[in-house]
Amino acid sequence: MDAIVVGAGFGGMYAVHKLNEMGLSVAGFEAGGDVGGVWYWNRYPGARCDLMCVDYSYGFSDALQQEWTWSEQFAAQPEILAYANFVADKLDLRRHFHFETRVTGATWDAEANNWIMITDRGDEIRATYCIMATGPLSIPKDPEFPGLETFEGEVLRAAKWPHTPVDFAGKRVGLVGTGSSGIQIVPVVAAQAAEFHVFQRTPSYTMPMRNTALDPDYVTELKRNYPAIRAVARASHLGGVRPVTSRPFFSITPSQRQRVMEDAWARGGLDFLGLFSDLLTNPEANEQVAEFVRGKIAATVNDPATAEALKPRGYPIFARRPCLDTGYYEAFNLPHVHLVDCIKHPIERVTAHGITTTAGTVALDTLIVATGYDGLSGALLAFEVAGRDGHTVREKWAGGARSYLGLMMAGFPNLFMLCGPNGPAALANIITLDEQNVNWICQLIDHMRTNSIASVEPQPAAEDAWMEQVFSLAELTLVSKANTWYVGANVDGKPRGLSMYTGGFFKYNETCTNVALRGYDTLRFA
Ligand code: NAP
Repeated sequence: MDAIVVGAGFGGMYAVHKLNEMGLSVAGFEAGGDVGGVWYWNRYPGARCDLMCVDYSYGFSDALQQEWTWSEQFAAQPEILAYANFVADKLDLRRHFHFETRVTGATWDAEANNWIMITDRGDEIRATYCIMATGPLSIPKDPEFPGLETFEGEVLRAAKWPHTPVDFAGKRVGLVGTGSSGIQIVPVVAAQAAEFHVFQRTPSYTMPMRNTALDPDYVTELKRNYPAIRAVARASHLGGVRPVTSRPFFSITPSQRQRVMEDAWARGGLDFLGLFSDLLTNPEANEQVAEFVRGKIAATVNDPATAEALKPRGYPIFARRPCLDTGYYEAFNLPHVHLVDCIKHPIERVTAHGITTTAGTVALDTLIVATGYDGLSGALLAFEVAGRDGHTVREKWAGGARSYLGLMMAGFPNLFMLCGPNGPAALANIITLDEQNVNWICQLIDHMRTNSIASVEPQPAAEDAWMEQVFSLAELTLVSKANTWYVGANVDGKPRGLSMYTGGFFKYNETCTNVALRGYDTLRFA
């Protein structure tokens, strides 16, 4: 093949489409049974995208965005998966993909100038270019406490939820993990279970989503304005149409600040992130916004001790991924919903019939695990990827993930990553970023084919300079100041550091574009 694409999420689907359109032969490989990536696997109750559909959808084809109609401001998982299927049907993408096929090894053959890919079905495929559309959040992480395999009830993983409905009625349910996934699960399971125990270690800050159905007039306006909306998204810091401001927190009076925050809380969504320009750089401003949210928790949760335990402290707001919820804090007012504070009483082990913390054992019929992912670098460390001279990604990333623009790595010719570590990754709207990444890679491949260039990789000095920029920008932001998957703190032994570019989508895109305009002077062609 000319190209192999690993992964059939939104990035992989667009890569296959674009490469095919350029006339390349393409084979896609996907471990799941169909397209959708994370939305294929994450079918847990309450799963929903906390980016608005207007952002979280493809912008490359006007035909697609005119034909598809979203029903809500923030779409639920079934609708997003239906959208992925709609796109796959429209663009006839499935014929290029091998589903239920996991790539288990990738090796660069320097003599033949191609990648040899091995799959769990025993296939061996060679291709000139390899695109890793493996996703920043595709390798789920089980908790470290022992005994999970001894539990005699049902264990459900948010990241790999069953395809058939799960009945919680009459059950004693436990949930471990209160990140974005756990927070979406809580209100839905709380409405069904007989007893529900939420095991919380680090509390997250969450704000009301206040999701709405989209009325037909709004949809008409949306469709009429898509070209401008996409242009605004591509010119923005986050790759989306969220509000932004140049107003620092302390530039207005305390009562004005209070009003601005109350309004944003009442509107819901991620408006809070765009309220003040210095939220992620000024710790004092950040703390005042955090305190505002703690006040809302106190006002919502009836039991003062539970409210206190739910209040996040000790790390900046928005340094963990901000969550949006529908009735999360309210769920703790139900008499059968219990918060277990795992900071005070850490989980010791799972037993045959429940979870034992230092405070005692909680009996459970069903255990939901929502303990996150080995983010950003996990997917390319999950199998052996060997580049020039047999050097592996595992060796290259032993001290932390390194790349050039989050797209390529010195020593790994013709290998490209979508939303890779050290690009904007999870800090930008991932579909806007996927499209930008694929367009840039395809333009480079086109350049190589036009000029009979066999292979490309970044110059080591260019990679070093990019990494220097990523590290120095990370120092300036509060995003690196919490123990999260953003910095690799959730995986034992993982090198610590914010391996994402924090300069914003627009700057990133500009940098990539300039590399192309300069004739790819930071790349090494052979
Ligand atoms: P996460 O944010 O990493 O949260 C994992 C949770 O599990 C944390 O609360 C963590 O606590 C807890 N945990 C892990 N080990 C534990 C242990 N041994 N004992 C007790 N608690 C433990 O993972 P996630 O919720 O799956 O979200 C990951 C990312 O997926 C998000 O940041 C977001 O980017 C994406 N996501 C997006 C959406 C969306 O709406 N678009 C929805 C879901 C997920 P500690 O923090 O103390 O480790």
